[in-house]
Amino acid sequence: MSEYVRITVTLTQPVAVGRNVRADSRQDTHNHVPGSVLRGALAAAWIHRRGQEVTRSSEFLETFEGTGSFGPLHSADSLPVPLSVKRHKYEASQRCRSEWDAAYGQHATTCEECGDPLVFSKGQPRGRVPLESRTTTALTPEGVVRDGHLFTQSMLKEETRLSGWLHGPATHALCCAGEPIRTLSLGSRRSLRGSVTVDVDTTAEPDLIECVGEDIILRLAAPAVFCDDFGFPTDRPDLRELSDVLGVEALEVTGAWTRWDEVGGWHAASGLPKPVERAVAAGSTYRIRCAKAPGPESLRTLATRGIGLRRREGFGALYVAPRPEAHT
Ligand SMILES: [Zn+2]
Repeated sequence: MSEYVRITVTLTQPVAVGRNVRADSRQDTHNHVPGSVLRGALAAAWIHRRGQEVTRSSEFLETFEGTGSFGPLHSADSLPVPLSVKRHKYEASQRCRSEWDAAYGQHATTCEECGDPLVFSKGQPRGRVPLESRTTTALTPEGVVRDGHLFTQSMLKEETRLSGWLHGPATHALCCAGEPIRTLSLGSRRSLRGSVTVDVDTTAEPDLIECVGEDIILRLAAPAVFCDDFGFPTDRPDLRELSDVLGVEALEVTGAWTRWDEVGGWHAASGLPKPVERAVAAGSTYRIRCAKAPGPESLRTLATRGIGLRRREGFGALYVAPRPEAHT
């Protein structure tokens, strides 16, 4: 199998990928499928086919606990507007340009057409992802229906298509006991599950990481976990890791547009929430100067592998944003 594989899922039922229960008893859904959810669904498919004992095999451990990456599944609409991008604070006129990207040195503070102020993106999705709501009875923590409590769940609509990348040993997850995996059950433990069909493209090539001269521009499609030399969380990527992957020396972060995010999770074995960790938010963007322009092969590896720690859990996935309009 190749170094990286593109996977596309099509929802055959509405799917809720649980986020958090709000105070008003509405359950939000992610507008995409996080890599951790994809990894969990693939591991569950292996266990379904080969029994619980497969989890002790070296094949399973290398695939699901190894050095591979399980990237998130997104549509063009669900990817975040990069944090380096500025847009109108208020409504833009039709003649106005729509975006200025500080990662490309576009530092305008007002629109030259209408004079309105520009504000940085907060990492909101680029488009509108179709969702539907379903109201059910609320359950107690023991799973018993709670009298008179209604609970509204938002869900990704049937026929939604989402794509992403698997890298390294994670690509082996798509085939189990000699048979490709063609359907998956997605959704988290606390929310409604739905089934999806799986299409795998082993010949697809990722968009090349953006390059400007010797600089590369990295944008996070998922939260990323970085540590400094003392093991403390940092909001900067590791230049040694980047140099290793790129095959050229990554010299300096010359621009960083980042926010912190808190990530938790659900520990399946104990049924308890995982501790909350600090991560750099999706949409965060870095401009990094390299000793020379990296080659296309290593840029494709980086695009599908991602950066930072816990990549097998979907952290540190990268994406390429649409090119900003040139300065006028
Ligand atoms: Zn304007």
